[in-house]
Amino acid sequence: MNKKISFETKMIHGEVNTTAWDFSKSLIPPISASTTFRLGSVERGAEGFMKFGSESFEAAPIWVYDRLDEPNTLMLEKQLSHAEATETAITFSTGMGAISSTLLALTKSGDDILAHQTIYGCTFSFIKNWIPKFNIQGRFADLTQFNEDFIKPNTRVIYFETVSNPTLEVIDIELIKKAVDKINQNRTEENKVFIIVDNTFATPCGCQPSKLGADFVIQSLTKNISGFGTEMGGAVMTSKKYEALLKLARKDFGAVLHPHASWDINTHGLPTLMLRYQKQQETASQLAHFLNSKADVEFVSYPGLDSFKYHNVSKKILKNSKGEFSPGYMISFQLKNAETNTVPFVNYLAEHSYCITLAVSLGLTKTLIELPNYMTHSALDEESKSSSGISPYLIRMSVGLENIQDLQNDINDALASLKK
Ligand SMILES: *Cc1c(COP(=O)(O)O)cnc(C)c1O
Repeated sequence: MNKKISFETKMIHGEVNTTAWDFSKSLIPPISASTTFRLGSVERGAEGFMKFGSESFEAAPIWVYDRLDEPNTLMLEKQLSHAEATETAITFSTGMGAISSTLLALTKSGDDILAHQTIYGCTFSFIKNWIPKFNIQGRFADLTQFNEDFIKPNTRVIYFETVSNPTLEVIDIELIKKAVDKINQNRTEENKVFIIVDNTFATPCGCQPSKLGADFVIQSLTKNISGFGTEMGGAVMTSKKYEALLKLARKDFGAVLHPHASWDINTHGLPTLMLRYQKQQETASQLAHFLNSKADVEFVSYPGLDSFKYHNVSKKILKNSKGEFSPGYMISFQLKNAETNTVPFVNYLAEHSYCITLAVSLGLTKTLIELPNYMTHSALDEESKSSSGISPYLIRMSVGLENIQDLQNDINDALASLKK
């Protein structure tokens, strides 16, 4: 079959001739609940261990033990590397499992990790509180203002999110890539600077950071990729040469994705991702304009708004596989008289709204709202919150698949309740 298959069709069908399962009978991959596999002979067992992490594995896998490799997981990894336009993908139990394993696998004592000052709360906490225990420096800076001087001789990793959680800042990956390429020319492989981009907010439908220069792309599969709020998972997408390193880290650190989650994400999440993303984005764009037009709203952050501080860089970075601008489904906003209005507004929604739920997480079929200061980013100390632009009144919203009018009605009711 030499036909050229489009990006979206491949997201639905995946590899037809996979070595993971025999597909002659099943339309949907079977799911295995076996943690260990019959090896048949000592020689085959030894070969299985030898093949682990090697190039030869995929051509004729020998399944040994679920913490090493697993059929559903391999199929999911193939699809994730297709989605992110990389050579390979390595899954983990959660997004944090992927982030912590990758950062520890790539650094050693004495190294420096430079991260954007506004990132997911637990990633911030990992870099700030845990990394220094290994004598690795974790440093935060405003990477929207990046220049070469940010990179120190011992810097090994530059870490940021395509669209930062929760302020939605967009960083110019290409600009950072240029500076890193220049510096890497004079460095050995052991000292190279890597760019790691957490692409969870944008998803591969809103950006493919590997095409813009990211060496490692991270996904929390728990969010938009799994999409229905039923599975946790994480993944790192990169080139083949780092696959063995990351698989070894996964084997020994142990943050392995459960086969059921692999199956669910590959069966339900990924094939519907593009459809869900497009609909969520369309509604979010309308909702961002709607909020922006409200007299009670102080400001709205959304990459698709002309007034958004990072609108121009967003237009350059946030593009789908066809090159079309993809501002996404996440909105952050703040009310006027925020000090008095924010908590009553969110509480009103939590108690009375039909389609807007007060809950953390994002990218699901249902619209979710939260206050990062008290929830997803509560691990940040006050000083870090203020340098990250996370005011106590910032409201983060992940737009789901509901009808726009129903969402607007819920918001109108909550705004009206403030005047009573
Ligand atoms: C949720 C999230 C994570 C962590 O993912 P888990 O699957 O919850 O561990 C990492 N980065 C971003 C941007 C997130 O939103």
